Amino acid sequence: MLIETHAHLNDKAFDADRREVIGKAFSLGVEKIVEIACAPEEWARGRQLAAAFPGRVRCAFGAHPEYTKTLSPARLLELDGFMADPCAAALGEVGVDYWWDTGTKEEQTALLIAQLTFCAKYKKPAVFHARNGRAPGQNAYADLLEALKTGWNYSPEGKFRGVLHCFSGTWADARAGLDMGLLLGVNGTFTYKKNEDLRETVKKAGLDNIVLETDCPYLPPQSARGKRNDPSFIPGIAAMVATHLGTGNGEVADKTTANALELFGRF
Ligand SMILES: [Zn+2]
Repeated sequence: MLIETHAHLNDKAFDADRREVIGKAFSLGVEKIVEIACAPEEWARGRQLAAAFPGRVRCAFGAHPEYTKTLSPARLLELDGFMADPCAAALGEVGVDYWWDTGTKEEQTALLIAQLTFCAKYKKPAVFHARNGRAPGQNAYADLLEALKTGWNYSPEGKFRGVLHCFSGTWADARAGLDMGLLLGVNGTFTYKKNEDLRETVKKAGLDNIVLETDCPYLPPQSARGKRNDPSFIPGIAAMVATHLGTGNGEVADKTTANALELFGRF
């Protein structure tokens, strides 16, 4: 069994065939999916999707850093309600993004910290987004982890507190995240020809510290570049991880599934 820990199935890219896409993933051994509802207008639709697939789809609810300048306090109150819902698996995706002009570091971390209060309140982990910009000298991972040190008082019963989704940082960034109880989210970018450093980082982190994801509809694996991504690519990503780490597909499935269930809780 495999778990897709990061999908955006409410994206309009799936409007024509959402149920078929989910059914196909299930038929290929992707047993469970975490849907990421990270825009206010996606929260209700995320809950509906979870209700349509009980025991198989749960949601992360949050406001992506792209809403730094626009999210109103009323929306944060609304988010509180979604985090209280039994379908909520996590807060997310939340974090810092220096690629787009979404606000200063201070503005972005203020929104992040405001949302992190829901982790303690509802005993939920978080799905983190960190993306570096074009300018050298900025490190989104370092800034994210610094903000977590001061603004995050969530202590889980298990071993993991959250995930650095679509991990694209250095080994030093990864190590710092692992030391704070975070996992690395590994997706199609692991298969890109130029990402040798990422593959080595994942190898060093090891199967005990990763979960699988697609971030669909974006970032399909190398074999499907330019096409729409979807959760049915998870077995292929697992196979690439197995090859690179010199282990079996079964072990990758077992470990990453156990990690995902420990992070998000059983569902
Ligand atoms: Zn995402």
